[in-house]
Amino acid sequence: MPNQSLYSLENLSANAQEPVNHKPDKPEEACGVFGVYAPGENVAKLAYFGLYALQHRGQESAGIATFAGERVYCYKDMGLVSQVFNEDILQQLPGYLAVGHTRYSTTGSSLKVNAQPAIVKTRLGSLALAHNGNLVNTLELREKLIQQDRCFLTTTDSEAIALAVADQVDKGKEWLEAAISAFKMCNGAYSLVIGTPAGMIGARDPHGIRPLVIGTLEGEKTRYVLASETCGLDIIGAEYLRDVEPGELVWITDEGLASFHWAEKPAKKLCIFEMIYFARPDSVMHDETLYTYRLRLGEQLAQESYVEADVVIGVPDSGIPAAIGFSRASSIAYGEGLIKNRYVGRTFIQPTQGMRESGIKMKLNTLKDVLADKRVIIVDDSIVRGTTSKKIVKALRDSGAKEVHMRISSPPVTHPCFYGIDTDNQEQLIAATKSVQEIEQRIGVDSLTYLSWEGMLKVTGENPNSFCSACFTGDYPVTIPENVRRSKLMLEKAKV
Ligand code: SF4
Repeated sequence: MPNQSLYSLENLSANAQEPVNHKPDKPEEACGVFGVYAPGENVAKLAYFGLYALQHRGQESAGIATFAGERVYCYKDMGLVSQVFNEDILQQLPGYLAVGHTRYSTTGSSLKVNAQPAIVKTRLGSLALAHNGNLVNTLELREKLIQQDRCFLTTTDSEAIALAVADQVDKGKEWLEAAISAFKMCNGAYSLVIGTPAGMIGARDPHGIRPLVIGTLEGEKTRYVLASETCGLDIIGAEYLRDVEPGELVWITDEGLASFHWAEKPAKKLCIFEMIYFARPDSVMHDETLYTYRLRLGEQLAQESYVEADVVIGVPDSGIPAAIGFSRASSIAYGEGLIKNRYVGRTFIQPTQGMRESGIKMKLNTLKDVLADKRVIIVDDSIVRGTTSKKIVKALRDSGAKEVHMRISSPPVTHPCFYGIDTDNQEQLIAATKSVQEIEQRIGVDSLTYLSWEGMLKVTGENPNSFCSACFTGDYPVTIPENVRRSKLMLEKAKV
């Protein structure tokens, strides 16, 4: 085993081990990953700002690991990026290579011990791994590694990937060979940034389910950046170079960037929900911002489900671009009928029962002047459980809306995600058990229409086969093992 030092500056706050009770009525993105390689510089601050831009991808924990020669430094804790780090902490993270992570838990509980990057020692020095996605063969991989006497500190699939790489290194392979051998043991979704004393790895699974982009920072030498989304490049002035391809590994060292296509049959299946909702609207995918794609979703929705009305409003923030697109295509005036409290974060203080019953308005409030006596079209990006939609519709009616027509810029969510998005079990998805008419009644709207699956894919302008849309169809691109299917799919449960 190596003799490299590992300095962990972890903050042992009193409540760090307590689980977080946090279950909003929207699918939750699993993670944001970030990496920067800039010889001769201290890069912790760049990683901090990169993670700051990727905060929407995970708000439970944040971490940065840096490499200075053989030494790795790491700090991670529960909380938002701005709560976890300060100037003092960043100064204690020296080095030219940084790996950063923001986390929302999908595999493993919401505990500090599961925060990333995952650090593992090997015979070639420590590695620091940041993972976005979800493996579907975690149990099998864990068992294999335990048989090799590997010790797990956490319950995450990310640690299993890190240990799989370490295992291959300790069996005598060099970093690249070891990483590729480990990836071949992993099934599911993984966009990875891995720091090592010899260089930085960026990699995507053979289907490229989660995004990962490469950027450059100009200087005496080219410096490279890896990020889940282009907004993570913009914030530090990095220029977008290209995406890491499905089944590709990039190896970034003093020599520059080398590319290895390691997967036998790569077949792009980017998560369509990244485009509809998860990724930031200012991030670029397929040569345009997602704001523009979401405008087109709204235009398509108006073509498919026009209804006479006086005003079109969107559910802030994610429903706004589609609402503007709907308004443009239908020539019905756009208005702001809902105002979001921009300073609401997660709260650990539970509202009183009285507040709950009177309809707590912590996040959204209505603009009565815009809504009173109007026939209102309200556009949202998705309905998952329907609980928030019901509250919003009630608030609109309480504010005087004469009619409420809901338009959704994606098809009904009928299946859970196994690839790194928390969409609940199938029985909790309202469209899995109820017809559109039943949902209309449940949420109290005059009419409800979803965008067609064909329309959603058509406006991408890309090959429709290059997306995963399994939460709308149940057609999963990576086979889900039976035990994993049974954990979330109610039809499968019924059979056993
Ligand atoms: S199942 Fe849905 S949320 Fe999951 S990767 Fe596929 S499209 Fe995305």
